[in-house]
Amino acid sequence: MTKLTGKCMCGAVTITAEPDTGGMSGGGLGACHCGMCRAWTSSAFVEFAAKRGSVTIEGPAKVRQTSEWAERAFCSECGSPLWYRVTAEGPEGGQYQLSAGLFENAGDLDLTLEVFIDKKPAGYAFAGDRKTMTEAELFAMFAPPEEGA
Ligand SMILES: [Zn+2]
Ligand SMILES: [Zn+2]
Repeated sequence: MTKLTGKCMCGAVTITAEPDTGGMSGGGLGACHCGMCRAWTSSAFVEFAAKRGSVTIEGPAKVRQTSEWAERAFCSECGSPLWYRVTAEGPEGGQYQLSAGLFENAGDLDLTLEVFIDKKPAGYAFAGDRKTMTEAELFAMFAPPEEGA
């Protein structure tokens, strides 16, 4: 896949990255409806997973640890959401999930996954069908294995 280039709303931050076709959303876009993402973006956080090692970031990115397991970053000049990244160890640990809205050409990617679907407000929905996961399903996937299992 080719590298995509994105810019925040004010243009101070530039990010280039290659979508990871092996990620949970298979090289497409993922949407998260969790409460933190909704507070952050006013709706769903729509992102694509970047291939490891393919990401370059220039400009005033401000990183904030927003939970025990993940960070979110935004432009310190204009506040545009830049990425979500799992900081805990695990299959997604360290991988950038980049804000698709920064990348004009990310609009060519299909929306292939919606997570925290049970937290989505009833008043709106994305058109079409795709894989969805509830909060419980997602946490079950990332929970540490039971002792002895
Ligand atoms: Zn900015
Ligand atoms: Zn979320």
